[in-house]
Amino acid sequence: MAKILVFNNDTDRMETYYRGESEPMPYNTNGTLRVREFRGSSKSNILWTTKRTMQSWNSQRYIFGGPIPVGFAFKRPYEGGHGNQSQHYAGVAFDVGQTLSSSRRRQLWNSANNSGVWYYVEPISLTPTWVHFDKRFRETCLFIWWLSYS
Ligand SMILES: [Zn+2]
Repeated sequence: MAKILVFNNDTDRMETYYRGESEPMPYNTNGTLRVREFRGSSKSNILWTTKRTMQSWNSQRYIFGGPIPVGFAFKRPYEGGHGNQSQHYAGVAFDVGQTLSSSRRRQLWNSANNSGVWYYVEPISLTPTWVHFDKRFRETCLFIWWLSYS
């Protein structure tokens, strides 16, 4: 059972959820993003994200029109990872498509890049075996709150 904190961008309030690893993330539709997928290899017993990030996932999944395998989204700063990880620490970034064929992964990259859903899609030259997209949140209160946990 994971404790999941979700910053609700519509109300500017933090919401708390308790979910099993095989349950969908809060605000996820059609079970396309499970808690265990969101956390990847993270051992943290508290996870966090934003409502806007979950809604963006729903949109991206709909636009892509097929399953998107998730390597991970969330990571704590001490859990390492690739280059610029700050958006993963904030729970608003995804590394996906690791198990797709390279042509299908390129389709996913194009889909993410063209969707208008994400603030940032990492260039394909920097992500040879995955696709990174994030919501790059700017809500200051979430950032301050996040820092208090890191
Ligand atoms: Zn990433």
